Amino acid sequence: MSDPAYLIKGGRLLGADVGHVLLRDGVIVAMGADARDAADVDVIDADGLVVLPGLVDLHTHLREPGREDAETVASGSAAAAVGGFTAVHAMANTDPVADTAGVVEQVWHLGRRAGLCDVHPVGAVTVGLGGSELAELGAMAESRATVRLFSDDGKCVSDAVLMRRALEYVKAFDGAVAQHAQEPRLTEGAQMNEGPMSGVLGLGGWPAVAEESIIARDVLLAGHVGSRLHVCHVSTAGSVEILRWAKGKGIDVTAEVTPHHLLLTEDRVAGYDPRFKVNPPLRTTTDVEALRAGLADGTIDAVATDHAPHSVEDKDCEWAAAAMGMTGLETAIGVVATSMVETGLLDWAGVADRMSRRPAQIGRLEAQGRSIAVGEPANITLVDPKARYRVDRMAMVSRSRNTPYEGLELVGRPVMTFLRGRMTARDGVPQV
Ligand SMILES: [Zn+2]
Repeated sequence: MSDPAYLIKGGRLLGADVGHVLLRDGVIVAMGADARDAADVDVIDADGLVVLPGLVDLHTHLREPGREDAETVASGSAAAAVGGFTAVHAMANTDPVADTAGVVEQVWHLGRRAGLCDVHPVGAVTVGLGGSELAELGAMAESRATVRLFSDDGKCVSDAVLMRRALEYVKAFDGAVAQHAQEPRLTEGAQMNEGPMSGVLGLGGWPAVAEESIIARDVLLAGHVGSRLHVCHVSTAGSVEILRWAKGKGIDVTAEVTPHHLLLTEDRVAGYDPRFKVNPPLRTTTDVEALRAGLADGTIDAVATDHAPHSVEDKDCEWAAAAMGMTGLETAIGVVATSMVETGLLDWAGVADRMSRRPAQIGRLEAQGRSIAVGEPANITLVDPKARYRVDRMAMVSRSRNTPYEGLELVGRPVMTFLRGRMTARDGVPQV
């Protein structure tokens, strides 16, 4: 039995003109008046809704294999669909680590079986994330998972020679190295952003220079070997400046920022609530403003969630012992709308660019991040741009509930998601 055809009627395409979009057999088959008059279709009343291309996440932790108590490929895919995503990149810091063709194919296969969004495994740069020996990057690239992004995320590839070799290696298959920029010696014992507040709270400081020094080194390395660098979760004003300089020099570097670094500051740490413990740490208002400006002017290419689910045992404990990370798939569009659209920094076409088109390009996903046009794959997200609501972690579908936004009011809510013409989520409920 084939999937039903859907007529998305009267939505605002990329937040601008009102239009109609007809989805059939996985493709956008008609728009405008041709679509409006179609027969034998399920009509979706999109009056007042924004029609976006399906969102693409460059940075998701799905925890499978190894920590299925925190998340699985299936539960994470459901959270992604509810959040408006049609593709996610699954980070390699699983157990076992995704450092071989076998593990990345396993994750890829689990994603296909779940069927709620396209799951693209990220391959580890070094064996076991150990930072001393390059993993089989070529074998992962040639596997059925066709890996194009490689990252030791959670850890930094701190050895300059190894980083250079990885950058050289990925050129063979148009890959990129996605760096978690954190100089390890400068962050030993670090618990929060370094500054007056870390002194007051008595927590180990995490200096901005620990991030910035690695980004500076890596853009120079990428320029030197002529390769493609992607910088994960940029968190400081200085990092934005370095990226702006590197792009001005023509260096092939892209970067992402997380929703939480666009909205939250280190002030949240004052209550020692481990929900706000994250790597890299929440920074200052000056940093948040620079990150917003960098995303608005395109210095930062993409928003990536760094969705990091943790079990209650790992997260709900005293600050020093708590795991770093927060969930983010289901709240991403609301946080971006609240911090970027409501503030007038970005319009919905800009959101489509930073959350769909550019991340798809960075991940080399040819069938994602496309225009909303006849003949294109029917990967579509509907957003209610005016919806005001308080975040309720108990309503989330991720297996973990470590959101930092509990009780916070957001504007802008994902309403419906279509993956190749099939409805994958509706009003917070995955359509399995
Ligand atoms: Zn990271």
